[in-house]
Amino acid sequence: MILIINCGSSSLKYQLYTPDLAHVAASGMIAKIGEPEGYIDHFVGHRGEHHRCPVPDHRAAFALMMEYLLSPEYHVIECPGAITAIGHRAVHGGSVFVESVLVDDAVLQALRDCAAFAPLHNPCNIIGIEEAQRLFPGAPNVVVFDTAFHQTVPEHAHLYALPHSLSEDYGLRRYGFHGTSCRYVSQRAAELLNRPLEKLSMVVCHLGNGVTLDAIKGGQSVDTSIGFGTFSGVPMGTRAGDFDPAIIFHLVNERGMRLEEVEEICYKKSGLLGLSGLSNDMREVTDAAAAGNKRCQLAVDVFVYHIRKTIGAYAAVMGGLDALVFTAGIGENSAEIRARVCEGLGFLGIEIDPRANAVAGKGPPNISAVTARAATLVVPTDEERMIALDTVALTEGLPVRQVPPVAKVCHAEAHGLAAR
Ligand code: AMP
Repeated sequence: MILIINCGSSSLKYQLYTPDLAHVAASGMIAKIGEPEGYIDHFVGHRGEHHRCPVPDHRAAFALMMEYLLSPEYHVIECPGAITAIGHRAVHGGSVFVESVLVDDAVLQALRDCAAFAPLHNPCNIIGIEEAQRLFPGAPNVVVFDTAFHQTVPEHAHLYALPHSLSEDYGLRRYGFHGTSCRYVSQRAAELLNRPLEKLSMVVCHLGNGVTLDAIKGGQSVDTSIGFGTFSGVPMGTRAGDFDPAIIFHLVNERGMRLEEVEEICYKKSGLLGLSGLSNDMREVTDAAAAGNKRCQLAVDVFVYHIRKTIGAYAAVMGGLDALVFTAGIGENSAEIRARVCEGLGFLGIEIDPRANAVAGKGPPNISAVTARAATLVVPTDEERMIALDTVALTEGLPVRQVPPVAKVCHAEAHGLAAR
């Protein structure tokens, strides 16, 4: 069995695949680690259980996960030895990791060295690997980085126009995120279009609570909207997206705000939440907008505008567009946002069929109008599957770049795990 672990600062998400990756045998999430009101959600097939219990630390979280995986009530595994490989999601691989790797001491050290780029996330990812090594001695661990897919973004696109020595000394550059999702979705899109990925120019719109737009040419990320930290690009649920950094100096120097306050505003109080004054949840914002709430209408207008602008920019970067792909919570579920993003993109060959768009998710993934010159697709993301595929490939000694996405599997039992 292949175990996929996504270890965050206060949560542990897990997904257990059968060795052929054809089925998700179990999945779950342990949340509020270190807080008094911890809980576990555990799923096996269509059975689910929500159990509240304090989870003091990550070690306790792993113990709780094992208790459920080994529980005779669910018949998932009989002993820890049934886990033959573990795949881990890691947020930041710096410029060191250009693809997924098998974990050894040097990899763990390099991950520690990258921690300055993701101080909240990388230390937790390391704890997850160390716990897995302790619980499953002998089973290989593979680590899959959110940043790795974007390492192909060329220098002229990933460099900021800062003093060169500063960028070199401190690794200041565009790293990008959601790379595992973009890689999976782009491979699936090529498969669905029955065209070689190497011949396609596409823009993937990963529209969830976090938002990434990614220009993918010939299967390689050539530009991506998130940058050094996790808040640039398009406005997100609570993150601002691009804005003039002079605003930060202004708030600190002229308005007397503390830097920590401004940081909190940029990451946690901006985006849809900041614009709407209501919620970071697109469903609530669009519902309120439909009911006449002007600030919510404006929040949606800003969100859609930035996506459209970025699609146009990426089409220019790639010299055209063969496919536009929507994924993640908003991209997969909101026909309204998809329709508004695609409005006026006819000059790029994008035209959608309103009826196909309305039933996307339940109907065919291709929502293009018959007259469209470029395809528009709705492709559910599955970061855990991508991690599982890399895990199997690397433990079998295969190069991960050549791993096909293998979509003909049962997704029914999968309960979304990734922190988006
Ligand atoms: P994710 O981070 O991928 O889980 O996506 C979370 C975002 O998806 C939130 O903003 C949700 O409001 C949004 N979302 C989920 N379902 C829908 C829906 N049916 N319509 C609009 N937005 C949705």
